[in-house]
Amino acid sequence: MAVSFAAVNLRTMALRSSSKLLRRSSHLLPPIHMQHSAPPLTRKISMNARSIASQLNRSGLLKTQGLIGGKWSDSYDGKTIQVYNPATGESIADVACMGGKETNDAIASAYDAYRSWSKTTAAERSKLLRKWYDLLMAHKEELAQLMTLEQGKPLKEAMGEVNYGAGFIEFSAEEAKRIYGDIIPAPMSDRRLFVLKQPVGVVGAITPWNFPLAMITRKVGPALACGCTVVIKPSELTPLTALAAAELAIQAGIPAGAVNVVMGNAPEIGDALLASPQVRKITFTGSTAVGKKLMAGSAETVKKVSLELGGNAPCIIFDDADIDIAVKGTLAAKYRNSGQTCVCANRILVQEGIYDKFAKALIDAVRNMKVGDGFGEDVVQGPLINEAAVKKVETLLQDATSKGAKVMLGGKRHSLGFTFYEPTVVGDVNSDMRISREEVFGPVAPLLRFKTEEDAIRIANDTNAGLGSYVFTNSIQRSWRVAEALEYGLVGINEGVISTEVAPFGGFKQSGLGREGSKYGMDEYLEIKYVCLGNMKKE
Ligand code: ADP
Repeated sequence: MAVSFAAVNLRTMALRSSSKLLRRSSHLLPPIHMQHSAPPLTRKISMNARSIASQLNRSGLLKTQGLIGGKWSDSYDGKTIQVYNPATGESIADVACMGGKETNDAIASAYDAYRSWSKTTAAERSKLLRKWYDLLMAHKEELAQLMTLEQGKPLKEAMGEVNYGAGFIEFSAEEAKRIYGDIIPAPMSDRRLFVLKQPVGVVGAITPWNFPLAMITRKVGPALACGCTVVIKPSELTPLTALAAAELAIQAGIPAGAVNVVMGNAPEIGDALLASPQVRKITFTGSTAVGKKLMAGSAETVKKVSLELGGNAPCIIFDDADIDIAVKGTLAAKYRNSGQTCVCANRILVQEGIYDKFAKALIDAVRNMKVGDGFGEDVVQGPLINEAAVKKVETLLQDATSKGAKVMLGGKRHSLGFTFYEPTVVGDVNSDMRISREEVFGPVAPLLRFKTEEDAIRIANDTNAGLGSYVFTNSIQRSWRVAEALEYGLVGINEGVISTEVAPFGGFKQSGLGREGSKYGMDEYLEIKYVCLGNMKKE
């Protein structure tokens, strides 16, 4: 495949900003975006990429090295890894491919920085976080463009993610000043009992590709606010946004070593974080399989663990729902980020009395969704992240149709090629099909029919996952009953987008441990210390 202006320009810019780095890729990750022979997309991206590159370069935000102890660093053996634009298959940049050695150095610098950062006042930490927030917002457009380039989500959605992601830093800046302790009435008159909250220590933060900014800020914001320091490992598929955010943290004055970034060989980096007794906490968002490995690996050094893993969100449409609200909510809950979020509606349960009407209204709305390069005008659905993601969607749909499900709209790769997939609605799905039991992570809405409220709750809870869930009904009583009965950490009632930095996000069952965002999310980065002052008799 020919390398376009986009690739050339960004590579040239990257070469200028970090001249030693850009050698040929060692291809640790196979370029799976480029493996199938779909027709090439018209290269409208090039103009965009050119201006993005020069803007990023001006702001110093196009970073391709890791960050260790406040210094941008190549991998020690010089290896690099390529980052691709999923909309075009083009290589955007080569970034450092790091492993255990670099991670150990990042841990050492975080440990060093912890000594002083944990002693700063809440007001000082708050001020620096606020500055970081201001810089993230000042560079909103560039960050969003970078995200669209490496992740594929439509630019408008990417702008929304910058607001959302930066919101965690703003919230953490405010909340830093409210990490209160407690005084407990003592059972003996000559004693006083106190509870102090103290930072847990060095944190290893491992994040996925679907929210390249927000998954980082929702971990790093509260960690820094509480006085912890961090080693971040972003996804190798989308490291550029993470690196740009880290550069802005430096520009904000967050001290060297408080924020470190390593990426490359994920298992090696993970193992180094797990093995280190200095790393006191692992916070992870990603697949259930990797989450379980990290939880098991944390046992050896008894680390605190927060996990935000896979979901299997039910979206329940009752006969008494407002159909317009239900369609709007389902569209948002299902097709946002091309269906690639862990709270995406995975099973749409529709009561039999409204099934046909709802299916028709949903199909009409989905038919109007414009698919394309995230930079294109009015585009609401970009490509999937890679070929493996498309293959998974195809496999699950094939399994469903072989067992009697009916494709009502879409159901195949989009004519744009690459990893574009048609927004799809599939009916007559049941709970035995893999599509109901596994996370689709693609733009496919499987419709299941149910009879009664009890049926809906039973079907919804019949899974090991328990993250997002949605209910559409006009009955206040039913919304309370169903919200209480759902074994899920998040319930949206007549609403399809419920994530916000001010509310606790996290799962029941195998969807994870701990909460992110809100005052509850702060506790994940704190130890509770009980102090007993005795012998208060007058001297
Ligand atoms: P996804 O399917 O969403 O990519 P993963 O769980 O594979 O989910 O990836 C989420 C994050 O976990 C990524 O940053 C990835 O590189 C990282 N990761 C994958 N395997 C490991 C591992 N063995 N140890 C540490 N991190 C890992």
